[in-house]
Amino acid sequence: MDTLTQYAYIISAALFIFGLKQLSSPATARRGNAISSLGMLVAIVATLLDQDIVDFQWIVIGMAVGGIIGGSAARLVQMTKMPEMVALFNGFGGMASLLVGWAAFAFRPDAGTFTLITIILSILIGGVTFTGSMIAYGKLSERISSAALTFNGQQVVNSLVVLGIVASSVMFCLEPNNSGWLFWVIGLSLLFGVMVVIPIGGADMPVVISLLNSYSGLAACAAGFAVDNNILIVAGALVGASGIILTQVMCKAMNRSLSNVLFSGFGSGKSDTTEVEGEIKPIIAEDAFYILEAATTVAIIPGYGMAVAQAQHVVKELAELLEKNGAEVSFGIHPVAGRMPGHMNVLLAEADVPYDQLLEMDEINPRMENVDVAIVIGANDVVNPAARESESSPIYGMPVINVDQARTVFVLKRSMASGFAGIENPLFYKENTRMLFGDAKESIAGLVREFS
Ligand code: NDP
Repeated sequence: MDTLTQYAYIISAALFIFGLKQLSSPATARRGNAISSLGMLVAIVATLLDQDIVDFQWIVIGMAVGGIIGGSAARLVQMTKMPEMVALFNGFGGMASLLVGWAAFAFRPDAGTFTLITIILSILIGGVTFTGSMIAYGKLSERISSAALTFNGQQVVNSLVVLGIVASSVMFCLEPNNSGWLFWVIGLSLLFGVMVVIPIGGADMPVVISLLNSYSGLAACAAGFAVDNNILIVAGALVGASGIILTQVMCKAMNRSLSNVLFSGFGSGKSDTTEVEGEIKPIIAEDAFYILEAATTVAIIPGYGMAVAQAQHVVKELAELLEKNGAEVSFGIHPVAGRMPGHMNVLLAEADVPYDQLLEMDEINPRMENVDVAIVIGANDVVNPAARESESSPIYGMPVINVDQARTVFVLKRSMASGFAGIENPLFYKENTRMLFGDAKESIAGLVREFS
């Protein structure tokens, strides 16, 4: 039976890895998700068939209740609220590892030092992940203030908490019969999760959530060692590694280091002194239509505002009309457009925009000089030329989509309000820019009406 279980685990690990690989392209991502889910099903069935862990009916009830809650939450959640949902999931993952670690200790009182260390690690990382994720959820959903919370002596308090964790962990390994040490580790790691996330501003939360995702994987990996389960070790390691890679990708695309995200409020110490020249030139849909009608190459650059307006379907309609009119249409996708990695890809896939029309920033930028019209839909920071031109800008050095190099730029937004980074955007004042004010969905619908 044990050999069969280990074979099932190998199959399940292979399905995880294959699924993850497929997640790296929008064209195969859905299949990748399904393959990974199948891997998880194989792992769960193999584990339950092999070991009499708890009374079977409790597991069935747990799976049914969890499945219903998870399934309906995933169906009901709005796409813009997805990072909050991921934060909750990470948090529960962390709590699960904490409980598994604790249970492993309760059921294996004769555990050796190595197992004790893995128990401590799964409790410690799981605890930090749980409370850290709950604070991240609270900040993102604005149930608590999203501002960075700092106070005098914070570093000292944090250092004392870390010292307390190290000391009680060591004592636990030396005196495993004294379970008081374990409660100290649990309490202090829960406290530490709060302490590490409160000084980070709500705006940086998506990066923190990706990092906590990685932690939840590491906690599961440690729990896998604690209960001696190979597939939990493999799955946890995969989540840990992919979470940290995603965190790095996000930091790179925002031109920030991870330590800058974790240990400083955004833009702290650097105020925006970018000077803008020129004037705002508004345009209405009727006039924009004439310019678009004559265009042979059009680049569409979506951002967070397209998600807010839920304009993806009408954007697809406009792209089809432009193509029918003889224009070559492409979509320029910035890696941190929107509020989570792949946000724009997900929305455009939902509207059935062909994947080969989606170009990454490095692909679209060299073509920008030959683009007749760039249509910026609710994007702001990711098309801000100050990142290239103004050394005083807080986002100086961040790679952006160079829409200002197109012959004409239409910017669709509701007002002159700034984006996520809260800074001025000189693009709006450029000679070749026209502002089409209004909700993105309504503005695009206006253009579609003109074409129709
Ligand atoms: P921005 O946040 O820079 O700008 C969005 C713009 O959309 C706003 O200026 C807003 O202007 C406009 N908008 C909002 N609602 C609507 C609407 N209904 N119709 C039309 N326009 C609307 O978004 P970007 O996508 O350009 O940039 C993403 C930012 O988020 C970057 O700074 C990035 O670093 C950050 N970030 C991204 C993460 C990711 O993983 N994607 C993670 C962490 C941070 P107005 O109010 O005037 O309409």
